[in-house]
Amino acid sequence: MLDYLVQHESEVLFCALIGAFCVIAIAEMLVPRRTPTGALGFRWVNNIGLALTTTLFNRTLYLLFGLSATSWLYSQDVGLVPWLGAPWAVSFLLLLVVLAFGDYITHRLMHAVPLLWRLHAVHHSDTDFDLTTTYRNHPFAALVLLAMRLPFIALLGAPASMLLLYEAGRMAQDLWSHSNTRLPAWFDRYLRWFVVTPDFHRVHHCSERRYTDSNFSSTVPWFDYLFGTHRARPVEQHASMEIGLENFREARHSRLDGLLLLPFRSFAPARALPLAGSESGA
Ligand SMILES: [Zn+2]
Repeated sequence: MLDYLVQHESEVLFCALIGAFCVIAIAEMLVPRRTPTGALGFRWVNNIGLALTTTLFNRTLYLLFGLSATSWLYSQDVGLVPWLGAPWAVSFLLLLVVLAFGDYITHRLMHAVPLLWRLHAVHHSDTDFDLTTTYRNHPFAALVLLAMRLPFIALLGAPASMLLLYEAGRMAQDLWSHSNTRLPAWFDRYLRWFVVTPDFHRVHHCSERRYTDSNFSSTVPWFDYLFGTHRARPVEQHASMEIGLENFREARHSRLDGLLLLPFRSFAPARALPLAGSESGA
């Protein structure tokens, strides 16, 4: 069964993506956290247009190289997973922790290194926050994410089926954590100990820099707690807080051509970020 799924990994991931997209889009209609500030159709067309561009550019590369590399490494008994020989569930937890740590470090670097921030700012320039924000990534930014993730995948040497399961879950989790949905406050308070919730990640997209430079986790939130980069805002502020970046709020910045050119625009004032905890404005 798992071998069959690995052989058809593109179809598996596509089905997981479409299924998660439909479920979360319905949830956004039923239980929205915020009222959109701009034209929804305009954002969706351009965010999804950028997603298609980015996917064509390098998502396929990641799946091909990531899954192929991990299959080869596992067949060579190279990496933490074959070396430990632990039960499947323990190995999967190890994979989750190692890749979550890699993503956390990469995300902090994307905020801290000015050149990387230019690429990542495309994602943060969305002035609203919903499931299509997930796909608002510059092709070069996605390429950096791929390059930064490959060493962690190589370190693990996990079976391709395990990585495929992680990727399918991560795609759904990315959509949900960016969704304009609300959970009961008491439930979110418990859930965010185990997984990044929409309220947890929405704070990261807030225009105020002390919030933008917080909550870097994308799957499990543990490294934000461990390294002191977690921030929360009272639930009643989520409906009114400003989303996006101050310098890129015009419609032309959110058109597909504007999104592709955004990293090459003037970034004034320069955004040489400390790793975390800054209280200065954006
Ligand atoms: Zn970010």
